[in-house]
Amino acid sequence: MRNLVIPEPQRRFLPVLGGGEFPVRRIYCIGRNYADHAIEMGHDPNKEPPFFFQKNPENADPSGEFPYPPKTSDVHHELELVVALQGGGRNIAVERALDLVFGYAIGLDMTRRDLQSEMKKMGRPWEIGKAFERSAPIGPIHPAAQVGHPEKGRIRLTVNGAVRQDGDLNQMIWKVPEMISYLSEYFDIAAGDLIMSGTPAGVGAVVRGDVMVGAIEGLGEITVKVV
Ligand code: MN
Repeated sequence: MRNLVIPEPQRRFLPVLGGGEFPVRRIYCIGRNYADHAIEMGHDPNKEPPFFFQKNPENADPSGEFPYPPKTSDVHHELELVVALQGGGRNIAVERALDLVFGYAIGLDMTRRDLQSEMKKMGRPWEIGKAFERSAPIGPIHPAAQVGHPEKGRIRLTVNGAVRQDGDLNQMIWKVPEMISYLSEYFDIAAGDLIMSGTPAGVGAVVRGDVMVGAIEGLGEITVKVV
């Protein structure tokens, strides 16, 4: 029996469709994985390949509410396919990467864009723009055993009913097996890891009271209210 000197920090769990819970270990996020989003952010996808950053595991939030965060006046939505791993390792071959996937969910990589832009300008890390409290609203996980491994299909976000983001999963520059393989060259990936796979064009600001509805073909939709 371990003698903890402080209360044990609480792990985050995401509901799984059909029953059970998925414990979150790490959250990897991929940046500029859709060419049209890279271009809208002022980058050339042919010259700058996608890359990774991380959020904190406890930033994952299945509650359906997104509290407007402090120290910002420009919080953006980024609708993303979330990949949930059931296994891991290092130097995973692309051909066997999908064996490690438990399932998929719809998620939002909420971003304090004003703070992220300042950090970019100064060449500083992105955490204060990306890894803040409840910055990763994520819906229930759909087991791959039921939904397969989506390679194409509409990914679409509305805010108060108006379409903001509307793309297709087939526009991803790095496909899911490639991102798993790439990550495993740099990190020991493991069961419980989530990968947020990047966002299509159309990112934009939300304010308190807005209702975001994110949909991905085959995975239904999630509703997240900004409070
Ligand atoms: Mn993102």
